[in-house]
Amino acid sequence: MAAIRGKDTKPELLIRSGLHRLGYRFRVTRKDLTGKPDIVLSRLDAAIFVHGCFWHGHNCHLFRLPGTRTDFWASKISANQKRDETVRSALLSDGWRIATVWECALKGKARLDLQELLTHLTTWLEDDEGLFEIRGRDLPGAASSSMQAPKATEPNSSHR
Ligand code: ZN
Repeated sequence: MAAIRGKDTKPELLIRSGLHRLGYRFRVTRKDLTGKPDIVLSRLDAAIFVHGCFWHGHNCHLFRLPGTRTDFWASKISANQKRDETVRSALLSDGWRIATVWECALKGKARLDLQELLTHLTTWLEDDEGLFEIRGRDLPGAASSSMQAPKATEPNSSHR
């Protein structure tokens, strides 16, 4: 992984270039759409959000509530989650289909194979299912932290 450091491997760019390679054409961050989806495929009525697991409070190994200013972060993240919900409802009722790709599906130890992820995504794109979500694999034995139970454990604790 160190070899590709410095290259721009932001999660949404991985998705964009993958879709582009597969022949999909799309708009990026359409400001006129509710919630500014990261990728918009108008022909397929599809809006794709690439969500950072921290900012959107994902229940996964990448999310941990900070030990300092915990209340501040908890209320900020819970406000983000509420807004995500509002955005989803608004887009759905305008006839959009919505996919959420979580950061943990693209980076870190739970990430999926990029081709596999793109296959899931394009299968959904060609389908007519409304809501879709892609997240990282479940990690065996990993206790994921959540908003309700913040833990201050070290990521590589030695009980294994
Ligand atoms: Zn996640």
